[in-house]
Amino acid sequence: MIDSHAHLDFPEFDVDRDAVFESMKNIGIEKVIIPGVSHSHWDKQLQVASQYCCPYALGIHPWFCDEGCSLTLSKLDKLVGDKHHDSDFIAIGECGLDKHHHSDWHTQVHVLKHQLMLAKTLNLPVILHVVKAHNEMIILLKHYKLARGGVIHGFSGSVELANEYIKLGYKLGIGGLILNHEARKLRACVTHIGLESILIETDSPAMVPNNSLEKRNTPLVLPAIIDEIAKLQKKSSVLISEQVRLNVIQMFDF
Ligand SMILES: [Zn+2]
Repeated sequence: MIDSHAHLDFPEFDVDRDAVFESMKNIGIEKVIIPGVSHSHWDKQLQVASQYCCPYALGIHPWFCDEGCSLTLSKLDKLVGDKHHDSDFIAIGECGLDKHHHSDWHTQVHVLKHQLMLAKTLNLPVILHVVKAHNEMIILLKHYKLARGGVIHGFSGSVELANEYIKLGYKLGIGGLILNHEARKLRACVTHIGLESILIETDSPAMVPNNSLEKRNTPLVLPAIIDEIAKLQKKSSVLISEQVRLNVIQMFDF
């Protein structure tokens, strides 16, 4: 199993990161992709990724795009240039648009466009965070036409919306929300979309499962996500697990 999106560099894991990686290994989680968030996170992210052999993405999350925007973008350009030949550097992101967050909308669009351009120039896929801004995102993706597409991480939309992204060459990151039976739109979507368009992810430490006593989420919830997708798609968990593993390897080429 591969977690296509987990922030294992975040401080929530500082006390027991070794143990978390060990438990992951014990249940067959072989890799975790660590997405980038902001320039104040990159150093530690790179250190954790290198220590635990994780593929990683570099980018600026829309929640952090107000942090000295133009200076941060040039720092990102420099870092991406430095890491260009590192085989563990596999994508740009996570970047995107979030209308639920207070960060300035025009800055969000500006910072996203810069990163879409970076992905295009370097021929890398993107990891996208999209909240209440799908129309705007789809217009941008049609404009930038990234050859390698990317993933709409933490997808929670309808099958129609999923198909719009799939047509443009994107995959959907399905996470712990699928375990919530109230998430009817997402569950209907996962029942009907092609398995080749699904990546699995936990977004740890965020997205703590509903019934959990834990304060943080961990990649250990991946088998439950696979089982739920299997139930919805009326296929075996082994088949789902193998196909989503192939999907993530193919998308990010590691
Ligand atoms: Zn994330």
